Amino acid sequence: MAPVSEEQVLEALRTVRDGARGDVVALGLVENVQVREGHVLATIAVAPEEGEAKEPLREACERAIDALPGVLSAAVVLTAHSAGQRSGGGAPAPGGPAAPTAPAAPGGAQPAAKPEIPGVRALVAVASGKGGVGKSTTAVNLALGLKARGLRVGVMDSDIYGPSIPRMLGIGGQPNSPDGKKIEPMRAHGMPCMSIGFMVGEETPIIWRGPMVMSAVEQMLRDVLWGELDVLVIDLPPGTGDAQLTLAQRVPLTGSVIVSTPQDIALLDARKGLAMFEKVHVPVFGIVENMSYFLCPRCGERSEIFGHGGARETAERLGAEFLGEIPLDIAIRETSDAGTPIVASRPDSAHARAYRSIAARVHARIEDQLGAGARAAPRIVIQ
Ligand code: ADP
Repeated sequence: MAPVSEEQVLEALRTVRDGARGDVVALGLVENVQVREGHVLATIAVAPEEGEAKEPLREACERAIDALPGVLSAAVVLTAHSAGQRSGGGAPAPGGPAAPTAPAAPGGAQPAAKPEIPGVRALVAVASGKGGVGKSTTAVNLALGLKARGLRVGVMDSDIYGPSIPRMLGIGGQPNSPDGKKIEPMRAHGMPCMSIGFMVGEETPIIWRGPMVMSAVEQMLRDVLWGELDVLVIDLPPGTGDAQLTLAQRVPLTGSVIVSTPQDIALLDARKGLAMFEKVHVPVFGIVENMSYFLCPRCGERSEIFGHGGARETAERLGAEFLGEIPLDIAIRETSDAGTPIVASRPDSAHARAYRSIAARVHARIEDQLGAGARAAPRIVIQ
């Protein structure tokens, strides 16, 4: 069968009308269409205040694309822009770069309404510009640090490229689903935990990657019986591409934490992370500098292997908070690889204290954010 083309996807979208106004293509709502080996991702622009009300339109677009011969999967995501941000009218160049979006002005553009996760008060994503910087290690120790503050905390591992959270929390096996619909999370260190790794295994490559998988991850997140949680920490896949954007757009994140190494900062990857969250109106709680320096276990000398302090400078320059620094230390690696993260297994160590201090800052930002949300209710968008 001939592979489906972007033009065919646009043709299919011409059959989807946005009420009486016209079809979504003629209205210039289709921002971007990507086709990869039969998997289609399209983004549709909606006004920020329309949010959830446009869910049926999104579903209709997905159905229209899905019905095309040769389509293996269709994912349509809504993007919200404030008035004046869109270049206005006209069909976009299919497959071209997404329409440029200005960063969200503080107190300006409102995020699209996203259905909440029942029982979960706050969702915090942990992200990084690239893999191997210690994002998952930070996510589990941050979660344990939040728990040490008396919060009810859950962990969701959505790192489709390397789901390592089960190993770091020392859990194996597969979660139960008594009714075949809802999933009971696994538990470790007093926290419910769900991982894409439970479904596919850490070693199994996931062929079907990227945005499509993230839609499945979002579904999984909503199907888990989390119970009552103050915070759900979500370990995002590394990077700032479509996969991460899809989840950030579809899940009601309270905020995000960006993990970076000093050399990562030099490569601008962390800044891309900041830009990504701004684009989808998710507050960045701040930046953690991991593998910040090396403290020699023998002589106690501090070596700044990758340079040091870049994250603090970058955070200050970009107006983000610097949440703290974690040294490169074998104890952190050994404990996280053994399923006993340092905040749980050596709570009195200096490193555990450093993670708990990061958790304290994140906790404060969560409360600020939830408080701001409560103050803003009922939500009236003035543009
Ligand atoms: P990512 O999620 O960014 O891919 P991980 O958290 O899986 O990174 O970390 C990659 C490896 O580095 C793991 O083996 C982990 O134990 C180790 N690691 C992470 N942070 C530190 C640190 N501060 N000191 C020593 N080892 C670390």
